[in-house]
Amino acid sequence: MDIVVIGAGQAGSSLVSKLRALGHEGGITLIGEEPVVPYQRPPLSKAYLLGEMDIERLYLRSEEFYAEQNITLKLGTQVTGIDREHREVHLGEERVKYDMLALTTGSTPRRLPAAIGGDLDGVFTVRTLADIDRMQPELGAGKKALIIGGGYIGLEAAAVCAKLGLDVTLVEMADRILQRVAAPQTSDYFRALHKSHGVDIREGTGLEKLIGEGRVSGALLTDGEELAADVVIVGVGITPCTQIAELGGLILDNGIKTDAFGRTSDPAIFAAGDCASFPWKDGRIRLESVGNAIDQAEVVAANMLGAEKPYVARPWFWSDQYDTKLQIAGLNTGYDEIVTRGEGDAVSFWYYCGDELRAVDALNDPRAYMVGKRLIEAGKSPDKAALADPATELKALLKA
Ligand code: FAD
Repeated sequence: MDIVVIGAGQAGSSLVSKLRALGHEGGITLIGEEPVVPYQRPPLSKAYLLGEMDIERLYLRSEEFYAEQNITLKLGTQVTGIDREHREVHLGEERVKYDMLALTTGSTPRRLPAAIGGDLDGVFTVRTLADIDRMQPELGAGKKALIIGGGYIGLEAAAVCAKLGLDVTLVEMADRILQRVAAPQTSDYFRALHKSHGVDIREGTGLEKLIGEGRVSGALLTDGEELAADVVIVGVGITPCTQIAELGGLILDNGIKTDAFGRTSDPAIFAAGDCASFPWKDGRIRLESVGNAIDQAEVVAANMLGAEKPYVARPWFWSDQYDTKLQIAGLNTGYDEIVTRGEGDAVSFWYYCGDELRAVDALNDPRAYMVGKRLIEAGKSPDKAALADPATELKALLKA
């Protein structure tokens, strides 16, 4: 049986390795648009952007690994279509046959429209190594950086720029940074952290348009203020890469729709990672994280070989800004109360819906993260007063 995987990123790399680890002896081909072996993206807005990490450490597996595992890598190669009837993948004129196919096409950053200056030189998004290669030489000390969007990517880019000595302003259209993904307490923590590093954070302020002739020189904000800018970094969310699935006539639903086993509307085609939406509780969800890309890809590999194993997501995420490490366990959707534990730099915010613990944001507190993750995965919800009490040993909550 020949298996073809489209998208050589985090999920694609995990999927093909797992297929071999599970004993698949047929052909495996991994096709990716980018000209490099699959690499990890998180450092692109953290240590790698800062210049504190070698490129070799980005690669998930070496080129030799794929050769040793007899996995054919087709890099720098864009898939242009799928012929489901003949089970062929189109690479322009070239055709690659498959018995089973997986889509791990990831996602792509939203860009600013050209009409408001999104195509000016000096305007960047943060998704690929190529993005960083273009952006990095522009991040010289003393320059003015404008960050559009106060989500994790925008905030991490702001932290790197501030550390590199740029003069940084971040604008966030919503009332507060991280509004879509975190509680007000976590927003407050990061706002204070960035302010202490000299970043000018403007909340409730959008971008009207970028200004410049050929190259960006400034921005007009929705409150009428005009700012000078040498570099603009846009972090306004991502959209799943579903074009190939759509062209092939697969059903979409906020991403490529899969069942609990990662199977799409075509039983010979699976999907995993940022591009896939899957059943979650009473609805569906699409996760944008390394943990999900790996775990889902591994379950999909097993299911492509007939395991019939449902994917049970155990969401976790992290963000590094300056010397602060945020670790998140669980999904905070639908919370109605936040319980705070600790104070100062090491603090954790616990998201409850009624008496049910849903998620934890742990700041510089790995123990709170570990215990929170175990509690959530075990479906346990500690008493709120006990949790907030510094005299309570965290580990004791696991036994309760
Ligand atoms: P990707 O890794 O994006 O891989 C998809 C690949 O498919 C791409 O290489 C793409 O070029 C290729 N492709 C798409 N279409 C085609 C086609 N038609 N033909 C050929 N190839 C195609 N997650 C965390 O958990 N923690 C973090 O701290 C964190 N930080 C991040 C920081 C940055 C800057 C970014 C960009 C992401 C971060 N993430 C983080 C998210 C995480 O990296 C992604 O969730 C993860 O990479 C998803 O893996 P994937 O395989 O689904 O997609």
